[in-house]
Amino acid sequence: MRMRHVKGCEEAVARNPFVIQDPAAFRGKWKSGVFGTDCPLYLEVGMGLGTFIRTSALKDPGTSYIGLEINTTVLYKAVNRYTDLLREQGRSTDPADTNLRFIRSDARFLPEYFGEGEVGRIYLNFSDPWPKEKSANKRLTSPVFLKLYDRILAPEGTIEFKTDNEGLFDYSLESIPAAGWELLAVTRDLHADPKLSAGNVMTEYEAKFSAKGNRIFKLIAGRKNLKNQLTF
Ligand code: SAH
Repeated sequence: MRMRHVKGCEEAVARNPFVIQDPAAFRGKWKSGVFGTDCPLYLEVGMGLGTFIRTSALKDPGTSYIGLEINTTVLYKAVNRYTDLLREQGRSTDPADTNLRFIRSDARFLPEYFGEGEVGRIYLNFSDPWPKEKSANKRLTSPVFLKLYDRILAPEGTIEFKTDNEGLFDYSLESIPAAGWELLAVTRDLHADPKLSAGNVMTEYEAKFSAKGNRIFKLIAGRKNLKNQLTF
């Protein structure tokens, strides 16, 4: 996401109580150490301005949500949007009363921040496509990242990926099974799929691109033999 740098955002992010400053310190203990509940942990990698994660967190108080974003200005805006929304809704802005936290970092460090199987679900929403072959390893569905997800995701955990980029989607339909995962659900038109669109939470890119008439692609992946346990 391209965004003009906001002056002073680094300092603001460094003292914001919703931003976990030293995520490695909570490796293996996010539930007790950060959220103080045993609720499952769901993580969005590359959350952008955070529409998806804050909507999900408000809708689903029985889950703890974490938004990871590499760009400090973008993260700064996401955190502000979340706290503004809490205020608008008359809710507490004490992080201890909420189920959402943020990390400002690169996805490649995920195993330093989360223990084996600690994360219940990983969302990849409208990840950067990196269309050039020489940048394929930077795609968040490349084998490099799939290995990292494998380390932190619970055995029954899933990866949910949405995009409007057909090239990245087709690439992911190959890279994910090739890395040993099973595709549990696939649609090439999410908004026209009654089953998969039930309860769909829009991201900012999803709203923007679908308004332009782009189709939204979605897949859900998990470990092998998970399919018969799922209900969608
Ligand atoms: N999920 C949002 C934003 C999509 S844009 C939405 O659907 O609207 C992709 C976002 O991923 C950008 O904000 C970008 O800064 C972030 N990103 C890209 N590579 C990343 C990485 N390696 N680690 C963390 N965030 C990353």
